[in-house]
Amino acid sequence: MDTIALLKFDREHIWHPYTSTTAPLPVYLVKRAEGVYIELEDGRRLIDGMSSWWCEIHGYNHPVLNAAIEKQLHDMSHVMFGGLTHRPAVELAEKVLSLAPRSMEKIFFSDSGSVAVEVAMKMALQYWYAAGKEEKKHFMTITKGYHGDTWNAMSVCDPVTGMHGIFHGCLPIQYFVEHPQCRFGAPCTEEDIQPFRACLEAHHDTIAAVILEPIVQGAGGMWFYSADYLKQVRELCDKFDVLLICDEIATGFGRTGKMWAVEHAGIEPDIMCIGKALTGGYMSFAATMTSAGVAEVICSKDPYVFMHGPTFMGNPLACAVANASIDLIKSYDMEHKIGAIEKQLREELAEAAAWPQVEDVRVLGAIGVIEMKQAVNMGEIQAMFVREGVWVRPFGKLVYIMPPFVITPEQLHELTSALKKVVREL
Ligand SMILES: *Cc1c(COP(=O)(O)O)cnc(C)c1O
Repeated sequence: MDTIALLKFDREHIWHPYTSTTAPLPVYLVKRAEGVYIELEDGRRLIDGMSSWWCEIHGYNHPVLNAAIEKQLHDMSHVMFGGLTHRPAVELAEKVLSLAPRSMEKIFFSDSGSVAVEVAMKMALQYWYAAGKEEKKHFMTITKGYHGDTWNAMSVCDPVTGMHGIFHGCLPIQYFVEHPQCRFGAPCTEEDIQPFRACLEAHHDTIAAVILEPIVQGAGGMWFYSADYLKQVRELCDKFDVLLICDEIATGFGRTGKMWAVEHAGIEPDIMCIGKALTGGYMSFAATMTSAGVAEVICSKDPYVFMHGPTFMGNPLACAVANASIDLIKSYDMEHKIGAIEKQLREELAEAAAWPQVEDVRVLGAIGVIEMKQAVNMGEIQAMFVREGVWVRPFGKLVYIMPPFVITPEQLHELTSALKKVVREL
């Protein structure tokens, strides 16, 4: 198929994320990608500002990650995880658990972030079932959250910005409280935490768990909130006997400047989800971790097992590349690396805050956000970014970047310059 026919077929038959198949926006045909560059079929090279949605932290086509997959391919690409185990999975469990907050001792591998969230919610329900408190079967969360596209994950996404508003009549009803207005770096006042406390106070008898994204709310609003708020959330969950699920799928593996976002608040969750950058962005893979205490209760009552087991659980190729990705993370001084990106983002994006079309500029770790006063036209702005040689995909009012960690200062400068140029033109 020539390029034109290929794009025509794509346009006529393939659904892309959150798009129409009858009137889709244009898509760009990628030939290959290497390092921080995405190369289009027509030869244009774009600096990747998205890390392919938080995943591609070491850049594309990384020789070490490629080699890990190739090696594993010749041993086995897959084998069922029921009744069988293998070195890549055990090594990965050991690596992840040793990096994770200390209380995380049990790990459940799954195929994608949304599934890891489903698994986390199921763990919480099975925990209370086994503890003899079956009435604790609802979840509580904060607005502006995003936890994935599957059914129960959708039910805890923001009803408005979480992209699933039209399904709300069919989803389990959960408790939402207004997300914290207190910014990262600021204290959390009584007024900030009051709605959260009030909701727990009123409904803790029927709430199994609080689920939230620690510190950084991603796809639901790109908002960074006070670590102090998260600390108080932890205390209140303990006080009211409710589990705390932290969804680190976007924030995990260094994106916020710490290995895990919970470290900013010095807290530990009862259940934690990871995904996205777990395999260095090479393939879909995720995990849900919990404490020995939670796991023990779950397995203490009939059916005495945790009721979940995906077909591709513990996939060896994914485990092998995840092991290599974590070794790479350990091989460099991550906090220093992310700190340098953060500093440069702060310096280079700051001036945009004064522009009339800009509402707010914020930076945390390797995430830079320019919030506009009005929603942008995605098709139009995407073309402008491509023209400037960068790949940035905004949504709504949010124009943001989260580049691969391997980006050089020069490349990052090109990226922020293009970002500002396009925003200024709007
Ligand atoms: C992306 C994301 C998910 C869903 O992960 P998928 O792999 O897309 O299913 C869940 N939670 C958060 C915080 C995410 O950013």
